[in-house]
Amino acid sequence: MSAEPSIFTLIIRGQIPSHKVYEDDHVFALLDINPFSPGHTLVVPKEEAATLDAMSEESAAALGRALPRICRAILAATGVDSYNIVQNNGESAGQTVDHVHFHVIPKHRDGRGLSFSINSSSLSEEDGAEMAERIRSHL
Ligand code: AMP
Repeated sequence: MSAEPSIFTLIIRGQIPSHKVYEDDHVFALLDINPFSPGHTLVVPKEEAATLDAMSEESAAALGRALPRICRAILAATGVDSYNIVQNNGESAGQTVDHVHFHVIPKHRDGRGLSFSINSSSLSEEDGAEMAERIRSHL
């Protein structure tokens, strides 16, 4: 992790302005400055972990507690009934700010919101058994 505070830490400290929508002891939420759709919100742990796997359990638990409440408020405020959560980890996965954040992206009826295509394939019994065992062995 960089020694410099992230842009989100500077925002949380009040050193950079933002449109804040939520704050508690562990979590901060703000409107994204380049929204995919109206209401696009970033939910950020105050703990400056670069990626999700680096978060402490305490911070992750607080984030998990706050997320549904923030999502309900976004639904009520925007009038949408659908939304996507996006959470990028690592540069190749599209992460541009090295401080964990969850994008909450309302999907508006006129199509505004996230559009994506997924390249999926089918999982064979053999590959599934081997991969699940490999992951379990690291837990
Ligand atoms: P990601 O590509 O997942 O790392 O997303 C980073 C997000 O942070 C982008 O959607 C940016 O528009 C957003 N962002 C960067 N700087 C600011 C800022 N000062 N205020 C609000 N959102 C920001």
